[in-house]
Amino acid sequence: MLRLLPRVPPAAAVIAMLFAPSAHAQWLSDEDAIMGTAVRVELWHEDADAGRAAIAAVMDEMRRIDRLMSPFKPETELSRINREAARKPVAVSRELFDLIARSLEFSTLTDGAFDITFSSVGYLYDYRRARKPTEAQIQRMLPAVNYRHVRLDPAKSTVRFARDGVRIDLGGIAKGYAVDTSIAILKQRGVRQALVSAGGDSRVVGDRGGRPWHVGIRDPRHADASVAVLPLSDAAISTSGDYERYFEADGVRYHHILNPKTGRSPSALRSVTIIGDDGTTTDALSTSVFVMGLDAGMKLVESLPDIEAVIIDASGKLHYSSGLQRAPDAPRPNMP
Ligand code: ADP
Ligand code: MG
Repeated sequence: MLRLLPRVPPAAAVIAMLFAPSAHAQWLSDEDAIMGTAVRVELWHEDADAGRAAIAAVMDEMRRIDRLMSPFKPETELSRINREAARKPVAVSRELFDLIARSLEFSTLTDGAFDITFSSVGYLYDYRRARKPTEAQIQRMLPAVNYRHVRLDPAKSTVRFARDGVRIDLGGIAKGYAVDTSIAILKQRGVRQALVSAGGDSRVVGDRGGRPWHVGIRDPRHADASVAVLPLSDAAISTSGDYERYFEADGVRYHHILNPKTGRSPSALRSVTIIGDDGTTTDALSTSVFVMGLDAGMKLVESLPDIEAVIIDASGKLHYSSGLQRAPDAPRPNMP
């Protein structure tokens, strides 16, 4: 019951609080459009003002990360890397350096399915205007797509590209990371029950008043329907789908996840949901498994401890990892 407070109150005050009527304790929530997506925070706090301040702190944190990592804003550190790193090593904040290093680890783990240099071709797509590169353009830029072109110097905290034409974009990992740093901020403020989500990346702390949180997996072809609901507590969950940003041309769905080996959108799956402990991992893995496909993707999931997956294939069929099928205490999908 007693929460950690930023300032430790004197003992008498603690006792008074314990017996005070909890008229102000309540569930609070808010939503805002940040990082090109819907950010939502829901939490329980004894003190409504402190709860609202905690939600505002999360929104500020999401904006801070956007100011650091957005590839669309010219003044971000990430944009400076993209402008200068082919010519010279670019010194960046430890935080951005570490997330790039983390991204390269996921590249190794997924045999290059996760690759932040996808953007060397990816920037040629404009999903809102339904524009795509020609085959010749893809072939010209594809050699720049390779995570090995990104050279990091941990001692100097610099990033250098090994060749011209390389661009990076953290869109496959930054939102999960932002969810993690937001959850850390909430915990620091003494919040013990919360949900933070940024688009398809969510993480929950504790439960929701003695019962698990329920996080739905969207039907990839019907925005308002869900195909499964997962009861979760103290977990992160990310979904990557072919419906977030896409356009169709000549019967082909061009969407925002690219296979780094081809420069094109994979079409074997409709969505991949990954459940794990932290949002950085689940975000990177949901994008990775989407690129890897059902067999290789599920194999990777099964090889990782404490990672589960729900994969929806191109026919709409759901595939569950073994931990979701068997363990009695693991999150179980409920068909609504
Ligand atoms: P969202 O939550 O935005 O739908 P996802 O986690 O599904 O994000 O990742 C999609 C984003 O990841 C794309 O918008 C792009 O920025 C980035 N991306 C696309 N393909 C890759 C890839 N092969 N490796 C790493 N990042 C990628
Ligand atoms: Mg992702």
